Amino acid sequence: MERYVVGEDQTKLVRTYKAWKGNNVFCLQGRLIFGPDVRSLPLTIFLIVGPLIIFLVMVGRKLMDDFNHWGVAVVVAPVVFTCWTLCVLLLTSSRDPGIIPRNKRPPEPEGYERSAESLPGQTPRLPRTKDVVVNGTVVKVKYCDTCMMYRTPRSSHCSICDNCVERFDHHCPWVGQCIGVRNYRFFYMFVTSATLLCVYVFSFCWVYITMIKRSEDITIWKAMIKTPASIALIVYTFIATWFVGGLSVFHFYLISTNQTTYENFRYNYDRRANPFNRGMFHNFAEVFCTSIPPSKNNFRALVPVEVGFPERQVSRDYFTSNMRKEYSDIEMGKNREWLEDSLQEGGHHGAQHSEISTEKDAATTDVGRSRSAKVPPKQVPYHPRNSSW
Ligand SMILES: [Zn+2]
Ligand SMILES: [Zn+2]
Repeated sequence: MERYVVGEDQTKLVRTYKAWKGNNVFCLQGRLIFGPDVRSLPLTIFLIVGPLIIFLVMVGRKLMDDFNHWGVAVVVAPVVFTCWTLCVLLLTSSRDPGIIPRNKRPPEPEGYERSAESLPGQTPRLPRTKDVVVNGTVVKVKYCDTCMMYRTPRSSHCSICDNCVERFDHHCPWVGQCIGVRNYRFFYMFVTSATLLCVYVFSFCWVYITMIKRSEDITIWKAMIKTPASIALIVYTFIATWFVGGLSVFHFYLISTNQTTYENFRYNYDRRANPFNRGMFHNFAEVFCTSIPPSKNNFRALVPVEVGFPERQVSRDYFTSNMRKEYSDIEMGKNREWLEDSLQEGGHHGAQHSEISTEKDAATTDVGRSRSAKVPPKQVPYHPRNSSW
């Protein structure tokens, strides 16, 4: 297939998804977007569908006979419910989670004017953080070196996908996608549906064992031995329920207090005021009853082949321990400042990958000695270079 399309003015055009700088995997010519670890998705589907098939064949089929006219419902209900679970799983993993498009060049520093003392070639410095007011609380947002922009409140850079994601919750390796503003509700529906499915299979395996016990008038242990598939399913769903059920309860708590997993691990709102908390009812409405914001990316749009990036220098010193201490000392309150974004980026179910992400950012940007980010002076021409695409 042709790599480029030539536009009317002879500019080379390429589909956005082909020139994508993040680590995402695209399917159906950019119609579906996954994280780089999408290969774990078939495993997740297998972990759902596999036990269901065993349940239907080894347990459900026999329960159908015992339940008379309710028997069909015992088998059909988990099939329908599994289809629903797979739907919300795919809605979680195959769509834009809320990626903020990267800037092509760094923003101009606000209020910057070249002074008379400025030496030729001297570059203005971008402040590392910017203040944003959220519900009367000053929130500091961090400059993202990779995306060359100030992040919006609650957004964070996923070190695995290499994108800034709005209302970043975490990167879920099981669904192979970031969980952000556009797929959080589907993710929550997925974990709660999976929990209910586990409880259903667990319960009906016990029902089946009890029926064997009654019909053959034997002890419960002997009845269990007669159906090893039920024992395997009971053990499997018991373990799985702790995992997905625990996640469901944890995210119920996060939604009710309007926190993300990332914020919960990072900031511990229990001991500080959370500027996003609007009360339990409104917090739930915010997640489930608001329209999903449209994607900020059109992965199939034709864009000119990028010819180069301006040089900019960003400090490695920013990530030093002194700075970490400086930021950890910032406290939050009505008249205090809140460091919205952190020095640590990304996360795996809340686990923080500070070193990975720091190195990632350092590897993908030009790193200088200065503490502040630098942008090129206006008179420096925009040097083209060969695109990697
Ligand atoms: Zn970013
Ligand atoms: Zn991610």
